[in-house]
Amino acid sequence: MLLKPNIKLDRITDITPLILERYNIDSLILDVDNTMSTHHGNVLTDGLLDWLNLMKENGINIIVLSNSKERRVKPFSERIDLPYISLGLKPLPFGYFRAIKKMSAKRKNTAIIGDQIFTDVLGGNTVGVKTILLTPILPESGLSFKIRRRLEKVVFKLYKIKKTEV
Ligand SMILES: [Mg+2]
Repeated sequence: MLLKPNIKLDRITDITPLILERYNIDSLILDVDNTMSTHHGNVLTDGLLDWLNLMKENGINIIVLSNSKERRVKPFSERIDLPYISLGLKPLPFGYFRAIKKMSAKRKNTAIIGDQIFTDVLGGNTVGVKTILLTPILPESGLSFKIRRRLEKVVFKLYKIKKTEV
């Protein structure tokens, strides 16, 4: 079930310290596009800074792992004061391993948070971290995304992916 997330929620701010505790998660790998802002957008999703502070106050390690280029990921991550890895090549495992190492975390206590089944979730499950799938903030334009999102809908049905009770 490499395509099925452990947790499905709508927004990043729906993730609470209590949920993380329930799943024994103390370290988070964060996606950028459509997770913390719209696709290639620069507006932070509502409540993001407060949420990041809440996580830090609860001792949660955080790192950004994005497939986007340095020129997108660096300024974004610096703005929210987080370490980052750009050109992450998700769903390949290398970026995840680098992220886990940088946080000195353990795979079983780490979760990837992202909006895409075929990159964020697939890679996370392959590597053996927990996977938290969010609803994309806004639908992307472009054919490749339309195809991907349609295939995701098939996976949702096939694996009966439903919102996690909190
Ligand atoms: Mg994304």
